[in-house]
Amino acid sequence: MNGNMMHLPLTIPSLLAFAASRHRDTEVVSCHSGGRHRRSYGEVWGRVNRLAKALLELGVRRGDRVGTIAYNDSRHFELYYAVPSIGAVCHTINPRLDPENLRYVVAHADDRLLFVDARLLDAVLGALPDYPLQRLIALEDAAQPARPATLRYEDLLTAQSDAALNIAIGEEEASGLCYTSGTTGRPKGVLYSHRSTVLFALAMCSANSTAVSALDAVLPAVPMFHVNAWGMPHAAPMAGAKLVLPGADLSGRHLATLFNEEQVSLAIGVPTIWNGLLEHLGGSGDRLPAGIRLGVGGSALPRKMIDAFEGMHGATMIHGWGMTETSPTGAAGIAHHASRALPVEDLRTLRETQGHALWGIDLRLVDDDSGEVAADGKTAGHLQVRGHWVANAYFNEPQHDAFRDGWFDTGDIATIDERGFLTLTDRAKDIIKSGGEWISSVALENIAQTHPAITEAAVIAVPHPKWQERPLLIAVRAQSSEITEAELLGHFDDKVPSWWRPDAVMFATALPRNGNGKVIKSQLRERFAAEPILQRSIVDSTGGWFREDYPDQQIWATG
Ligand code: ADP
Repeated sequence: MNGNMMHLPLTIPSLLAFAASRHRDTEVVSCHSGGRHRRSYGEVWGRVNRLAKALLELGVRRGDRVGTIAYNDSRHFELYYAVPSIGAVCHTINPRLDPENLRYVVAHADDRLLFVDARLLDAVLGALPDYPLQRLIALEDAAQPARPATLRYEDLLTAQSDAALNIAIGEEEASGLCYTSGTTGRPKGVLYSHRSTVLFALAMCSANSTAVSALDAVLPAVPMFHVNAWGMPHAAPMAGAKLVLPGADLSGRHLATLFNEEQVSLAIGVPTIWNGLLEHLGGSGDRLPAGIRLGVGGSALPRKMIDAFEGMHGATMIHGWGMTETSPTGAAGIAHHASRALPVEDLRTLRETQGHALWGIDLRLVDDDSGEVAADGKTAGHLQVRGHWVANAYFNEPQHDAFRDGWFDTGDIATIDERGFLTLTDRAKDIIKSGGEWISSVALENIAQTHPAITEAAVIAVPHPKWQERPLLIAVRAQSSEITEAELLGHFDDKVPSWWRPDAVMFATALPRNGNGKVIKSQLRERFAAEPILQRSIVDSTGGWFREDYPDQQIWATG
């Protein structure tokens, strides 16, 4: 017997329609065109309706993909709502993609239109010389001089009225498309639905994750071109929170200014962004608004960062785990009621885990033969996931090994303890297999990063004639530090079994990172795997890698 309850589709336009009616004067603040602009949710909703009509006039139909190559600003936000409001799919594209991958994703998605930040237009035209100009729309002010043949965003809006279209949308229809970073192989598309997006936004409003509410001013310092800026552009209107969009400048100085002037109470970003903020705070003496919450994910949250933000700046850190295929958040690091009684040191350790699965997400660990392994906090396995905001296939690529038996194989290696806390120990492809045993690169990186003289660290496997693979540590020294290889290796004593200790240290001036701030380990492997590291002979002190015991022997150019 069914219940007698109404069934209304969970759709993306309903989020902004709600904010425009119940939180009409709450602001969307946006940094673009060289200034800071503010509009109310009511005004933004009117502009979204204008844009939706313009899209229809430009020939966009249900299911069509509309590409955006843009930063975190209000025009991008308007596209987030206008495109799905007519049943089309908002395909957010990373502006930092190299030309080949840009051509690949635009062709694979078959983007009907491309909305491009004016600053990126020349690069996009260069990379896509055959893309029809009349399907390119420049995100710029009407006052700016028109470029030949490309349309201008503000002109499109001027020609329309504010009234809503109210097109009926099914909750399972596609709404958004985001390609994975493609660090291995071609980028793969994840096609979100209205329903998955709304349920995910609801999860972000839960107090077990980021707890977005009408009391908040929310600043996403993760890009809107990647995984919907972790759902904040949807969660903020759902909750009636003020939204602060920082534009392209995510420097510590700019974020600190916005935090204080806009009274931001919740911001989310990857650890690299928060490192930049810490550096700025240290150098400038600026303070953070009292009680600010900082969400962190994408890579592990180092203890040093928790201590710095919570101990010195009065912030609260919220650690989450996820990926493009999981919208992204699957787990978040909120301690349990029972864990309040833990000794401080145990609680700190718990805070470093990737947290606890949110409602709506199931996690399990399996071994190489797909047999489930114990969630005992010790046994590591391949992390698999399923849930309301988890993909069940890649876009236009139905056959993929990662999706099997109703589960998605994340490519992460993890443990889960008896209380359900998730700890990532590695990416399956990054783990070091030494003499048939596994060494966690992440565990070694974390230890290296606890040394005050080290700011960044990456551990990779290098081939070894006897052990198959051994760990090599690549580290970046803090300014003015002269720590030696032997001193840094000594830091591992008593912290890991002796055979886990890296065989050598390379010092670097910076680690190669992709557009999302992740270390590109494949690049490090390419550089180092070919050379038998154990011959101790690598130097390049001119901005690349160097071994300090051979300061004048240069082997690799900086590249
Ligand atoms: P994104 O580009 O959003 O970071 P990707 O899908 O490219 O998403 O990468 C997801 C991967 O990032 C995860 O599979 C995991 O390896 C890593 N990751 C995400 N969050 C964390 C975290 N909190 N701690 C450690 N690794 C993380």
